[in-house]
Amino acid sequence: MTGPRVEDLIRPEIRALEAYHVPPAAGLVKLDAMENPYELPESLRPQWLERLAAAPINRYPDPQAGAVKAAVRAFLGLSPQAPMLLGNGSDELIQMLCLAVAGPGRTVVAPEPSFSMYRLIARVTGLEYAGVALGEGDFALDVEAMLAAIEARRPALVFLACPNNPTGNLFPRAGVERIVQAAPGLVIVDEAYYPFAGATMLELLARYRHLLVLQTLSKLGLAGLRIGVLIGAAEWLAELDKVRLPYNIGVLPQLAAVHALEHAEVLRTQARAICADRERLHAALAALPDVEVWPSRANFLLFRTSRPAAQVHRALRERGVLVKCLDGSHPLLAGCLRVTVGAPRENDAFLAALAAALGR
Ligand SMILES: *Cc1c(COP(=O)(O)O)cnc(C)c1O
Repeated sequence: MTGPRVEDLIRPEIRALEAYHVPPAAGLVKLDAMENPYELPESLRPQWLERLAAAPINRYPDPQAGAVKAAVRAFLGLSPQAPMLLGNGSDELIQMLCLAVAGPGRTVVAPEPSFSMYRLIARVTGLEYAGVALGEGDFALDVEAMLAAIEARRPALVFLACPNNPTGNLFPRAGVERIVQAAPGLVIVDEAYYPFAGATMLELLARYRHLLVLQTLSKLGLAGLRIGVLIGAAEWLAELDKVRLPYNIGVLPQLAAVHALEHAEVLRTQARAICADRERLHAALAALPDVEVWPSRANFLLFRTSRPAAQVHRALRERGVLVKCLDGSHPLLAGCLRVTVGAPRENDAFLAALAAALGR
């Protein structure tokens, strides 16, 4: 065989990475990826299909996805002029942010454990990455440690997931604000779980030019559309827009998002039901003697059992339930698993499988 070898061409930092792994879920109760368990109701389907059927798929989509932006502004109660950038999922917006600032000595800082894409995308785009450990036991934001890391590393970007994935807690606004005030670069408050948290830092945008709020339609019930939303000052968004690939939101996702957001009350009602079910699931887990479970402001729960997490994960899968095993991903997550709040019947299936897996 001739030709270049992988190690001659692919950058070492890429070779050192592991691709984002999505396990097969066919036939399983899928509680591993924070998806909304509810589909678009039957009553909304005929009009949806009509719109999709009329879509001009021979043409490129609206490059600005103006109708989607208008629908998102209405959904979030923003002014019709609020500057906004859309991504193919918020993952793509994280990538645009990293691409726009990447360069020698540029660094990303984020608490850890948190959303794994911050580190992955930072590495892929050639940025340095520094994680700052959350508090042991309660996963609280360690503001002093964050401020020390900001002072030492002068990061171009700071990511704060509020609520945090995978720990479920909402970082207090006062701590977030101190970090924003100290940051020499951009601070991105990632509100992927806003629909379940009942809290947002959008109001802070009026006070800090270098703060951006990241949201997504994924966890709300539209994960398949891949629509992420970045909100903040126009001067930053205009620069990031140059990094965006043209037509990054397809014709069909644009139409489907507008349709769904025109019926946002359906999604809001689903989110409320998921929050109520989250509290029931939390109580059921807390009642198990060999389970430790943390409070959550998102649509998932982090828990730990007295058995090795990999064993519990396998036993659950054998019983038809897929959750996420976090053991090994960060020292603070030793023995931890994460379960997405599903429909009541799925949550019951999970609880029954867990009880069986723990031999009760
Ligand atoms: C799920 C998640 C995202 C990614 O959402 P997409 O819009 O589907 O790419 C971003 N941030 C956090 C914290 C998440 O948990």
